[in-house]
Amino acid sequence: MNDSKLILVTGGSGLVGKAIEELVTLQKRENEKWIFASRKDANLCDYKATKDLFTKYKPTHVIHLAAKVGGLFDNISNNLDFLDNLHINDNVLQASYETGVKKVVSCLSTCIFPDKTNYPIDETMVHYGPPHDSNFGYSYAKRMIDILNRAYYQKHGCQFTSVIPCNVFGPHDNYNLKSGHVIPALIRRLYDDITAGKTQFTVYGSGKPLRQFIYSKDLAKLFVWVLFEYNEIEPIILSVDESEEVSIQHLAREVAKAFDYNDEIVFDTTKADGQYKKTASNAKLRSYLPNFEFTPFSIAVKESVDWYKKNHESARN
Ligand code: NAP
Ligand code: GDP
Repeated sequence: MNDSKLILVTGGSGLVGKAIEELVTLQKRENEKWIFASRKDANLCDYKATKDLFTKYKPTHVIHLAAKVGGLFDNISNNLDFLDNLHINDNVLQASYETGVKKVVSCLSTCIFPDKTNYPIDETMVHYGPPHDSNFGYSYAKRMIDILNRAYYQKHGCQFTSVIPCNVFGPHDNYNLKSGHVIPALIRRLYDDITAGKTQFTVYGSGKPLRQFIYSKDLAKLFVWVLFEYNEIEPIILSVDESEEVSIQHLAREVAKAFDYNDEIVFDTTKADGQYKKTASNAKLRSYLPNFEFTPFSIAVKESVDWYKKNHESARN
């Protein structure tokens, strides 16, 4: 029996895609061919371009990462643009169905959960109330993936599922100060400050909000496990433990430490804090993988800072 697999990764040039590419390249996995597609290969907002991509590669499996992704300040200003994700997800799942893909793993996020909710958040709560007002476009578009997965399963028996990562960081992140998430933005800003000889490192907001952060290299391992071992249609949260939740203030100190920066850190409270916390339970993940070891936060931050110092000229700025 031919059990060779062709795995298409949409969004393969991004933060998570690059981490998966590095992992599977290192592992030299047998009977698997991996294709990492970017916007250059197909604009997935366009149905025909999406179908052509799937017809060209005939994937047996898909990890669907492609999305318009941004940090708090990008979301606040551009909710309409984030609704582009509706088209991308519709097209990818429809093309997957039409070309007979055996399994699709798509990506939600812990920031799409209801704003007013009980903590910790779990997988059953995705649709239980409006998201935080800062990112309603991204949130509703992402929530529809779960609806589509259930509907494709009900009508056609498709194995389309989704994962719900917390805030991701690592090499190949988006270091643009306007659109990036907090970790790449702080790395970029402090790098620029140190280079310019400044002795004041500015962090937006009060520093009090709490976040769970997952290193892209850990997430890559979990993605590959979900693709081949996780057989539910319902989503699974891929997050560090609740005890690993940290404040933005703590994060800023970790970034400063990784740069060996000992001068002042100031908090610009004229800037938004966003949702105070999004504490998610990884109990479901732990029920499958009780011994999975996450990279300690300070080591992962240090590796990310070192990567940026080495690669800042070619990094996405
Ligand atoms: P990223 O670094 O911004 O990469 C986005 C990827 O999507 C890029 O490869 C980009 O291609 C591709 N893409 C965007 N629009 C496209 C389009 N119209 N057609 C084709 N490709 C398109 O994102 P990421 O951080 O790796 O995120 C990966 C997934 O994880 C996303 O689904 C995101 O929602 C989810 N997620 C991310 C986080 C986080 O903190 N970053 C947290 C939870 C969930 P180009 O490079 O060619 O533009
Ligand atoms: P979120 O986790 O989805 O809210 O997105 P972010 O990764 O953008 O994190 C936002 C949190 O980090 C908020 O509490 C911001 O106030 C705080 N923060 C501090 N400095 C920055 C910055 O330079 N950029 C971003 N995006 N957030 C920052």
